[in-house]
Amino acid sequence: MARVAQRLSENARGPFFVDSSCIDCGACRVIAPRHFRRGRGGLSIVHRQPETESERTRALMALVACPTSSIGTEPRIDAAPGVAAFPELLDEEAQVYFCGFTAESSFGATSYLVRRAEGNVLVDSPRAAGPLLRRLEELGGVRWMFLTHRDDVADHRRFRERFGCERILHARDVGAGTRDVELKLEGEEPYPLADDLLAIPAPGHTAGSTVLLYRERFLFTGDHLMGTEDGRALEAGRDVCWHSWPEQIRSMRRLLDLRFEWVLPGHGGRYRATSPAAMRNEIERLVGEMRNSDCN
Ligand code: SF4
Repeated sequence: MARVAQRLSENARGPFFVDSSCIDCGACRVIAPRHFRRGRGGLSIVHRQPETESERTRALMALVACPTSSIGTEPRIDAAPGVAAFPELLDEEAQVYFCGFTAESSFGATSYLVRRAEGNVLVDSPRAAGPLLRRLEELGGVRWMFLTHRDDVADHRRFRERFGCERILHARDVGAGTRDVELKLEGEEPYPLADDLLAIPAPGHTAGSTVLLYRERFLFTGDHLMGTEDGRALEAGRDVCWHSWPEQIRSMRRLLDLRFEWVLPGHGGRYRATSPAAMRNEIERLVGEMRNSDCN
């Protein structure tokens, strides 16, 4: 629960505020950029209070998604519309959803649901919050839980217990808390999980980072690759590269062989290109930028 006494002084006057417990995960800024931005102190603040009902719902979605309950309202506003908005449909035809409800143990990483007749896929672990679990049940449950890397596994056991899903993680990222995952990927060759789902090892951020390609349109990238928070470009985080930057550059180059239009990351902004060719151009630009930074 956010505390009024710890309200950051930079917040705009009005009911919504961020307190000093913010961990700067960025989730609120991606969900409701009209209302949240990074303040001078490096933490998020409310820079513009919502005015309309739809703006209020957007701000409440950020409040619900916040992993540390650092967003509050005073006087209190019922968060029910924000709860009910998740999972949020990102693409109707492909049935790709954003789960909201991020977990602090995953540093507020984003997770996604892919709804498929052959079985739903949950990409990375959201917080196992009751309203989300019930909604996932209504949407058909979870057949596979694809874990892009070791950092974003949060409540994976709770999802296994509730839905009986098969968890997938690269063997190089398996640790004490994930020893019991059902499918451990090996090596660096792409691994077809189904006709429309291809797992591609992308070592760099961690040794076992793996991206997931769905229908040759959506690439779920964990922390390997992300959009800028304004969604205008792609980027990769050298300062959060835990394993090997040269390997991350190599893994990025391998993405040039794939076709896709969307990048759906764990952290950072979502990025949508106008075509697979435009996506390829943007990745080429990024690879060049990464190589230059490697020489500095
Ligand atoms: S979602 Fe919460 S923790 Fe993350 S940046 Fe916003 S206020 Fe901070």
